[in-house]
Amino acid sequence: MEHHVAMLPSPGIGHLISLVEIAKLLVSRHDFSVTVLVPTIGEPTKSQKSFLQNLPPKIDYILLPPVIFDDLPEDAAPELKICLTVTRSISPIRDALDSLKARTQVVAFLTDLFGSDAFDIAKELGIPHYLYFPSTPISLLLLYHLPKLDETTTCQYKDLPEPVKLPGCPPLPGKDFLQPVQDRHHPAYKLVLHHAKRCTLGLGTLINCAVELDPPAVQALQEYPGCPPVYPIGPIIHEGSDGSEIGSECLRWLDDQPSGSVLYVAFGSGGTLSSEQLNELALGLELSGQRFLWVVKSPNNNSTSGAYFSTQSKEDPLAFMPEGFLERTKDRGLVVPSWAPQIQILKHSSTGGFLSHCGWGSTLESVLHGVPMIAWPLYAEQPMNAVMLHMGWKAALRPNANEKGLVERGEVSHVVKELMEGEEGKRIRQRMKDLGEAAKTALTENGSSSKYLSQLALRWKNQDN
Ligand code: UDP
Repeated sequence: MEHHVAMLPSPGIGHLISLVEIAKLLVSRHDFSVTVLVPTIGEPTKSQKSFLQNLPPKIDYILLPPVIFDDLPEDAAPELKICLTVTRSISPIRDALDSLKARTQVVAFLTDLFGSDAFDIAKELGIPHYLYFPSTPISLLLLYHLPKLDETTTCQYKDLPEPVKLPGCPPLPGKDFLQPVQDRHHPAYKLVLHHAKRCTLGLGTLINCAVELDPPAVQALQEYPGCPPVYPIGPIIHEGSDGSEIGSECLRWLDDQPSGSVLYVAFGSGGTLSSEQLNELALGLELSGQRFLWVVKSPNNNSTSGAYFSTQSKEDPLAFMPEGFLERTKDRGLVVPSWAPQIQILKHSSTGGFLSHCGWGSTLESVLHGVPMIAWPLYAEQPMNAVMLHMGWKAALRPNANEKGLVERGEVSHVVKELMEGEEGKRIRQRMKDLGEAAKTALTENGSSSKYLSQLALRWKNQDN
């Protein structure tokens, strides 16, 4: 019987895309077949549906019954919804795994962090379970360390007197810890702590990074006492093609700009700014005099992850631009609502910088295409990625916010000019090019990441189950 792998991405298109990319490698390089169990909240989004309907051969999917959240407040934290979706899907997950097991030889069950509750079912059914950690080594190290930190400190982490020194990482101030652990009294904190305690229970951990991108941090993970083997198999990114009208408009516009002259500005699938911040960013871009391509979502004054479950803004985002801004910048700026073909933009020779929310997907895409960054983290583990990019890898600039947490227009203009034209920008550009080359080499047939994946595939094929 063919070797089969079952995967469980936690909700969010980014998680799904990331696991499917691993599935593609397992199919094409190691001859596995894969089934993705997709937990859903309500009706799947349009982008989710079209993504699933176009999965390549030997990758199948099962849509789990939608989870209902009548009992949660409308503004419940995304982490809470993500975890609860998996917890409330446990019974259908068991049924799906059980029926897969009856039909195929399931040699591994792979979930991401928030799916770790499903490990118990895999164990019950005798399926070897592994964790896929789609994010940075520093984030995983913090999770390994979190239970101890929880036991030995009582204050909020932002009030810790000293930055935390994780092995192999730059000093990490408590205020930059991933967002859901910022309030230790919040239910989201308890959930993350719960998963942090469980993230070492798998038989191994796949991480979306290459050894060469962060040697000290990867080594620290591999040597962390009591933790399962770590397989750095990345950077894996999704090379989706976007034939949409907006997509081609962006690329046509880029074709007409000078080489390396455009700053691409985007905050991922879910990131939103407050109205005030949106205004300052717009006026700062204008003040910088640089060319820009900006993917805008409607502002949200209550949450920085306001578009996490919808991606498309409900209202027209362009209606929130400062008065006259679009007209005044039309010769050197393109503003597109909600979504743009990011990888094609990062690949384009006119793109010379990326102002990003530092989602790990966006970060890896920027690295692989050698595009230097301005780190503008919003939520989740993005502030930690920003610390690593700025202080660790020295591959990004990071603007300073004022005491109210607002990045003012003058500061925006300053970092944008520095990245696109300054001396520091030059150094960062070179550093990104070097990182990009190292990342590409890791992915070649004899590169480190391919070797780790082969080791894992062999381990899965040779186990006796
Ligand atoms: N993306 C895109 N167009 C956009 C915004 C995002 O194609 O306008 C893609 C981007 O290329 C990346 C993913 O969506 O692959 C976002 O993942 P990331 O981990 O950066 O952030 P998240 O959306 O999970 O916060």
